[in-house]
Amino acid sequence: MNILYEDFFSRVAAVEARIAAAARAAGRAPADVKLLPVTKTHPAIAAVYAARRGLAAVGENRVQEAAAKRPETAALLAAAETAIPAPRWELIGHLQSNKARLAAETFDRIQSVDTEKLVRHLDRAAAELGRPLPVLLQINAGRDPAKFGCELEDAPRLLEAALAAPHLRVEGLMTIAPLGATEAETGEHARRTFAALRELRDTLASRFGVSLPELSMGMSGDLEAAIAAGSTCVRVGTALYGAR
Ligand SMILES: *Cc1c(COP(=O)(O)O)cnc(C)c1O
Repeated sequence: MNILYEDFFSRVAAVEARIAAAARAAGRAPADVKLLPVTKTHPAIAAVYAARRGLAAVGENRVQEAAAKRPETAALLAAAETAIPAPRWELIGHLQSNKARLAAETFDRIQSVDTEKLVRHLDRAAAELGRPLPVLLQINAGRDPAKFGCELEDAPRLLEAALAAPHLRVEGLMTIAPLGATEAETGEHARRTFAALRELRDTLASRFGVSLPELSMGMSGDLEAAIAAGSTCVRVGTALYGAR
């Protein structure tokens, strides 16, 4: 990453304008869509920028990388002239069960819960840590063979397991849209994937009598389509920090 805070500041403004325009076009309030800056592969200063701009959380896709970066970020923020509150940390990448304990220690929320085994491991880790762990269930709503995430058909069982885990708080669903061969095809995949996640959320919410308010979907390239379909959290890396 090679950008100044001033550049980051104006990129955030541009992304927030995209979010606001997409929300209004969908008859939604812009404030109902949170921007999660994705700091993966970037140094701790990326998370410091986010905190300085008042963004409440950052997204990372690897446990070890975040475990190293989080204390570094905290130290940089503590050394700032005026105190800046530290951001929350969210895991948005694939998590193996054997890293569940470190993930539960490192992250304030885990967006990538996709198996019952992972539910068990995270629940045990949260119990040991003595605090509830907010989670999202990652769904392969675009049926992409290259993507992690619970298959649509298996989502009810996964949700049932997660709701039964006493130390997990299920806040909603997350998905990543598959790429297409062309830009038009990618756009079409995105629209279908986001509509499928929204529909699944509505179905599960009524079937299980829970609210599942968070729909984490949309990235730099497809956040408008995600917001049109009801996204409440767009995860944006490239448009804020440049190419990785
Ligand atoms: C990297 C990543 C993003 C951000 O993607 P950009 O295209 O850089 O905005 C969002 N979600 C997940 C799960 C990611 O791994």
